[in-house]
Amino acid sequence: MLDKNMGRTVVKTVSRDRVIYSFNPQHDPAEHVTPGELILVETEDAFSGQIRSEKDSVNVLDWSRVDGATGPIFVEDARPGDTLVVEILEIKVPKKGVIVTVPKCGILAEKRFRPSSRIVKISSNHVSFESLRVRANPMIGTIGVTPESGEIPCGSLGKHGGNMDVKEVTAGTKLYLPVSVEGALFALGDVHAVQADGELCVSAVEVPGEILLRFELIKRKKPQWPILETRDSYAFLACGETLDEAARLAAEAAVEAFMREHHWSFETAYMYGSVAIDLKINQVVDPKKGVRAVFSKDLIDLDSLLV
Ligand code: CA
Repeated sequence: MLDKNMGRTVVKTVSRDRVIYSFNPQHDPAEHVTPGELILVETEDAFSGQIRSEKDSVNVLDWSRVDGATGPIFVEDARPGDTLVVEILEIKVPKKGVIVTVPKCGILAEKRFRPSSRIVKISSNHVSFESLRVRANPMIGTIGVTPESGEIPCGSLGKHGGNMDVKEVTAGTKLYLPVSVEGALFALGDVHAVQADGELCVSAVEVPGEILLRFELIKRKKPQWPILETRDSYAFLACGETLDEAARLAAEAAVEAFMREHHWSFETAYMYGSVAIDLKINQVVDPKKGVRAVFSKDLIDLDSLLV
């Protein structure tokens, strides 16, 4: 079919009815796709649409239907040890979204506050909040592949990706994920119309989405952590029990990549990190905290980022 809004020939659509709440190798694929094929994935918002007005607070939520993702998608020829490259071409969001506060959640969890919901208007350029306008920046909160064994809730995050909540995972970027099972079993959800680094109150502007994407594979090499490629930069997306741990792991991956690229000693790469690698906070509110180590694409070859 031809998607009129996006102007590209879409071969397959994965409906938002195909929702999963965990990355689990036992899940049946929602769809099989071939690298290079255009895929349109529909997603529910993080609450599966349960909050429809400002009268609906998180007190009404069926928590078993929170933090879902659409999938899993089986990518032909993806094998353990490969890299799944996800090219995000377009992210469409509706004209309204919801933000909530959840007592005992977020970076200020110890304060006393009520559950509350705010419906906000979204235009093509901005989100209206109170009397203010915030520039819209549609992004994907949850995006990942399935681990070799066991089960990881879609609300959690790790080396497989998951609920990373990185504001730079937008249209025009590529994400590199380490394949652990046949077909990769990819899923995504939790689109935000806009989110700041940190995601302080535990919710951003939560929206359903329509994401146009395409997969590629890099055979027999994989990233230690998910890698995000933007127009100008690469970033390792690491996470840990604390922000300190996440920062250390992100820094370690980047320093080791520069050692591989230039055949540098640890000391040289460590010093170089101080002047050319930026550590930035992804979020501070999910089951693990997320930090990205960002550096210019001019400084390193993609090959040195994979092992
Ligand atoms: Ca999230």
